[in-house]
Amino acid sequence: MTRALAVFAHPDDVDFNAAGTIAQWVDDGVEVSYLVVTRGEAGAGEPRDRIQQLRADEQRAAAEAVGVKQVEFLDGYADGRVTVTLDLRRDIAATIRRVRPHRVVTSSPTRTWGLRDADHPDHAAVGEATAGAVYPDAMNPYVHPDLADLEPWSVSEVWFSESPDPDRYVDITDTFDRKLAALAAHRSQPETGEQLNRDRFAAVAARGGLPAGRFAEAFRVIIRS
Ligand SMILES: [Zn+2]
Repeated sequence: MTRALAVFAHPDDVDFNAAGTIAQWVDDGVEVSYLVVTRGEAGAGEPRDRIQQLRADEQRAAAEAVGVKQVEFLDGYADGRVTVTLDLRRDIAATIRRVRPHRVVTSSPTRTWGLRDADHPDHAAVGEATAGAVYPDAMNPYVHPDLADLEPWSVSEVWFSESPDPDRYVDITDTFDRKLAALAAHRSQPETGEQLNRDRFAAVAARGGLPAGRFAEAFRVIIRS
């Protein structure tokens, strides 16, 4: 496992859902890349005429806080209006073929009602499109003729965040300060403050049966044989 790719709908999604786990992967020598489908222009933040640039810059700063150097954004997808299309699958598959990740982390295609923003339709759409991009799009040479220049690639593991039925709780206590720094980088966004997120990720740890004083992120992990 030397390369991982995170695919999410908006700037900040990766940081709420996976930055503590990703910081551990970086510490383990894994090269992690981010692919963000929109620039989050439907989110909070001022000035409105520079919101895309502002949020993209915040995401780059957040990536830096956990040691991730590669951050890409797709063009042509609008915040709040993402649906599962063959174009989106193809665009994600193109990045998978270029990055050649062993592990992909994305949002769950199955929505979790009532958990913070986990019921956002953009998140479910990106999860579903990414699942399709992993299989068959990235590995089947015949599905997308316009990807013919890129060698097919088979991803070994898919990690879904915001899943209604997580089966892996990653103890992120040791990297939690870096996750907090990544969240704080999204200065324009609500709910990125320290105490709120200490409480939030301590609660995730409790749900996963970890002892008091620990923090965790939760995933449904699919191992592809
Ligand atoms: Zn989001």
